[in-house]
Amino acid sequence: MNIYADNAATTKLSRKALEEMLPYLEESYGNPSSLYSLGQKAREAIEKARAVIARCMCASAREITFTSGGSEADNQAILTAAELGRKAGKKHIVTDLIEHHAVLRTLAKLEREGYEITYLPVHENGIVRIEELEAAIREDTCLVTVMYANNEIGTIQPVREIGAICRKRGVLFHTDAVQAVGHIPVNVAEDNIDMLSASAHKFHGPKGAGFLYARKGIRLSGLIEGGAQERGKRAGTENVAGIVGMAAALEEAVSNREANAEKLTALRDRLIKGLAAIPHSALNGDAEKRLPSNVNFCFEGIEGESLLLLLDDRGISASSGSACTSGSLDPSHVLLAIGRVHDVAHGSLRLTLGDDADETQVDEIIRATSDVVTYLRGFSPIWRDLTTGKKEFIL
Ligand SMILES: *Cc1c(COP(=O)(O)O)cnc(C)c1O
Repeated sequence: MNIYADNAATTKLSRKALEEMLPYLEESYGNPSSLYSLGQKAREAIEKARAVIARCMCASAREITFTSGGSEADNQAILTAAELGRKAGKKHIVTDLIEHHAVLRTLAKLEREGYEITYLPVHENGIVRIEELEAAIREDTCLVTVMYANNEIGTIQPVREIGAICRKRGVLFHTDAVQAVGHIPVNVAEDNIDMLSASAHKFHGPKGAGFLYARKGIRLSGLIEGGAQERGKRAGTENVAGIVGMAAALEEAVSNREANAEKLTALRDRLIKGLAAIPHSALNGDAEKRLPSNVNFCFEGIEGESLLLLLDDRGISASSGSACTSGSLDPSHVLLAIGRVHDVAHGSLRLTLGDDADETQVDEIIRATSDVVTYLRGFSPIWRDLTTGKKEFIL
């Protein structure tokens, strides 16, 4: 059985999105900036996609700017707020410890340029506390950036309340909603959001397409110089097929959202229950305020990488919190932020279910994980130290 359980990393392209994209890769390949009809056909497709996306987000079309994905949208939103802040003499930004690197590294760059950043803690449940956020806002705060839902542990932040506080205090609020859009309800108006980042490939759209929502009146700073595409805010010939596919995928995701979420939540909780039965294991992040598809566990006495490789041998694609993929031996900043010590954080496993998941798949994941964890513990020196009492169990 092949089970793809890494939907937080990327998702399969929807059939409908692919079908809507094909004409723009084949016959309607014109440049949207060209005046002849072949170009104008592509232009119309882009504007239609913009209207669809705006409707799905409860925004207006002019508030949507297309980007190459979530990372670019995060960069553009943060650098826009930083620029507006600088002009007003405000160079303080509030964020939290579990943001995506697209946010954290952009903020680190600003820090080197003289901005001051406050990183809010997220506590054991992986969620920021409203009163701490409110207390962190100062006279010179130009931006609050807090993600909608976390990509590793799936925790959902109190975005609407954060947005309300920011609005009251006159501070711009950006949210990286890459994991949320198409999966949980997101409404930029009701959620008091000023800027929002999203990425097509996280909701069954194509890779390399995303968008930035910026509320009317916010003048975006361009990251790329060149032509006047995207009303001068994002130079470069538009990814026409990507944009068309993104709109089709979002429309589909939003219309199936409730049914998918209900089904996935039940499967997620079945998976959590099954994995919790493995001794010396623990769920990472809040059990309820989490994405319907996200399960993230730590297993004491093992290495996440070995677990992934052996699960792959059993046909299961999953992910680990350890950041070896990024060339560093440090465990995930997210797991450290929720208080997992290094040894424990190294034994983490992220499973993110797809819309096609079912009980058979979930039960196979539980069986395989349980087998592999037992097997790996069999020759783990850390596990031996734990079981012989040389080291104390944490979980
Ligand atoms: C995937 C992801 C991103 C990056 O999006 P890309 O389109 O891959 O650049 C940013 N933030 C979060 C939370 C993500 O999950």
